[in-house]
Amino acid sequence: MSAPLLGQMMDVPLTVSSLIAHAARHHGSTEIVSRRIEGDIHRYTWRECETRAKQLAQALRALGVEPGERVATLAWNGYRHVEAYFGVTGFGAVCHTINPRLFPEQIAWIVNHADDRYVLFDTTFAPLVDLLATQCPNVRGWIALCDEAHRPDLRTEVRCYETLLDAQDGQYAWPELDEKQASNLCYTSGTTGNPKGALYTHRSSVLHAYAAALPDAMSLSARDAILPVVPMFHVNAWGIPHATALAGTKLVLPGKDLDGKSLYELMEAERVTASAGVPTVWLGLLTYMRDAGVRFSTLERTVIGGSACPPAMLRAFEDDYGVQVIHAWGMTEMSPLGTLSKLNWEQSQRPLEARRALLEKQGRVIYGVDMKIVGDDGRELPWDGVAFGDLHVRGPWVIDRYFRQDGGHESGQDSAQRGASPLVDGWFPTGDVATIDPDGFLHITDRSKDVIKSGGEWISSIDLENIAVAHPGIAEAACIACAHPRWTERPLIVAVKKPGAAVTRDELLAFFTGKVAKWWLPDDVTFVDELPHTATGKLQKLKLREQFRDYVLPSALAVAGCPLDDEPAHADKPLAQRE
Ligand code: AMP
Repeated sequence: MSAPLLGQMMDVPLTVSSLIAHAARHHGSTEIVSRRIEGDIHRYTWRECETRAKQLAQALRALGVEPGERVATLAWNGYRHVEAYFGVTGFGAVCHTINPRLFPEQIAWIVNHADDRYVLFDTTFAPLVDLLATQCPNVRGWIALCDEAHRPDLRTEVRCYETLLDAQDGQYAWPELDEKQASNLCYTSGTTGNPKGALYTHRSSVLHAYAAALPDAMSLSARDAILPVVPMFHVNAWGIPHATALAGTKLVLPGKDLDGKSLYELMEAERVTASAGVPTVWLGLLTYMRDAGVRFSTLERTVIGGSACPPAMLRAFEDDYGVQVIHAWGMTEMSPLGTLSKLNWEQSQRPLEARRALLEKQGRVIYGVDMKIVGDDGRELPWDGVAFGDLHVRGPWVIDRYFRQDGGHESGQDSAQRGASPLVDGWFPTGDVATIDPDGFLHITDRSKDVIKSGGEWISSIDLENIAVAHPGIAEAACIACAHPRWTERPLIVAVKKPGAAVTRDELLAFFTGKVAKWWLPDDVTFVDELPHTATGKLQKLKLREQFRDYVLPSALAVAGCPLDDEPAHADKPLAQRE
C-alpha cells in the first residue's frame, strides 16, 4: 500500500481569536450596541471590541492567569461580556459562563468544580458575590464589570474591570493555539444530581459558528443586525457572539431589561433584522405589542428554541407581524445547535397548512450534526413521523465526555483519567424522545428526564420532591410539570400525607420558601391517597402526568384572566426578567 497523498494547504488552526480578528479587520466599523446596566446605550465597533478584548487578555495575563485556566462570568448580554468571550479565550484560557439564575449553592458548586481563577460579574450580581466569595476559596479575584464610579460596596475585595483595562495598551498579538484546546465551558443545570460541564474546543466553536451563520440556520450576514435575547450565560447565547464576528453582523445587546417594551424599543431604534430567544420572552413581547398597537418596522425573523415553540406563537409572529419564525432545537452538550425548521424548495411549494405543520416541528439538522432515533433495543427506528424513540446525535460540536466527571482530571490527560464516556456506540444520547418524519424533520415528543422547564430554564423535579418529603407530614411526593401560558411549564407537587397528618396545601408551599430559588417554588400542591409506581418501586411520572394533564394551576388562571397582582408571589419570574 502506498502512503496516502497529503493535501498541500496551509495548516491554520480554527481558533476563537481568528473570529474577532476577522471582524475587527474586515468589519471593523460594524457596531456593537449595548443597553448597559448603568442605564444608558453604549455603542462601539468590532474594531474597538478587539482592542479591548486584547487589553483584557493582557490584564488577565498580568494577574497570572495561565492558558487552560478558567475565568468565569456572571453577566448579562453586553459589550464587556463579548470582550470576555474573546479576551479570555484569545490567549488560551477558558471562558466559563455561569447562569446567575441558579441557586447560590449551585453556583458555588460549579465555580469550585470548574476551579475558576477569576470571576467577572455585572454589578447586578454584587450581592451574590459576597455569598459566593465565602464558599469559593480558590477564586483569586472578583472583577466587577464597571468603572470606579460604579464599584459595588462589598465585603469581598473587588477589582474594577475598567481600571484593569486602562492599565493595558491593547498592543497584543493573539498567540497561535492548538485548535483542540478548550475555549469555553458551560454547565448543564443539574437535572439529576450535580451540573455537568460541556467543555468546547476552539475548533468546535468555530465550526459551530460557521454552521450557525448558514442560510438554513440563523442566516447571519453583514447586512443583519441581530439582538440575541437568549442570554450569553446560556450555551454561549446559542453561539451568536461567535457567529456574528464570523459574519460581520451588527450585534445589539439588551442587558438586563428583557420585558416586551424594552426589547421592542431597542429593536426599533437599532433597526434589528433578526433575534433569538426562548418562547417565554416572545410571549412578553407579543403581549406588549398587541396592547400598545405597535408593529415591527425592520424585524424579519426570529429563532425560537430552548423549549418547544407553541404553534400559536409561530402563527402570531407570521400572520400578525410578518416575522418568520425559525424553530430550533439543541442542547448544552451540542454547543447548542442541532436542528432548525427551514423548508427546502419542494416543501416551500406545499399548501400553507402543510408548510406550517412542518415549521411547527423542530426542523432538520444542519451539516455537522447527524441524528437518529433508537428503540429500547438500541436499534434505529424509521423516519415515518410516527415511531418515537431516544434521540441520539453526533458531530464535531457534540461532547465526547463531560468535564472532570471523575472529580478532578482535566482534558489533555489520557482517556482513562477523563471519566466514563456518556456515548452509546459513538453517539450522544440526548435524553429527548422524538419522531423524525420522511422529510427529515425532528419532532420532540417528550423528555426522558422529568425536569420542568420554566421560562426556558430547568427546574429539577427531584430536588423539589426531596424538599417535600422532608416535611414531617408528607409520606411521599412527586413533582411534575403543568402547562403554564406564561412560563411554558411550572411545577406541581402531588403528595401523599402521612397517616393522621394535618398538613395543608399552603403549609407545604410555605415549606419550600428559602430552600430553593424563588422561581423554583412550586405553583401548587395537591394531595392524593397514593402515587403510581413501576414494578421496581419507582414513581411512574408518565402516568402521573397523564392523570394531571388537564390540571389548571392557579397561577395559570391569573395570567389568563386576572390582574397580575393576583399572581401568587411564588410564581415570580426568573431573575433575568425582573426589573
Ligand atoms: P439546555 O441544555 O438547557 O439547552 O436544554 C436542552 C434541552 O431543552 C433539550 O434536550 C430539550 O429537551 C429541550 N429543548 C431545546 N430546544 C427545544 C425545542 N425547540 N423544543 C422542545 N424541547 C427543546
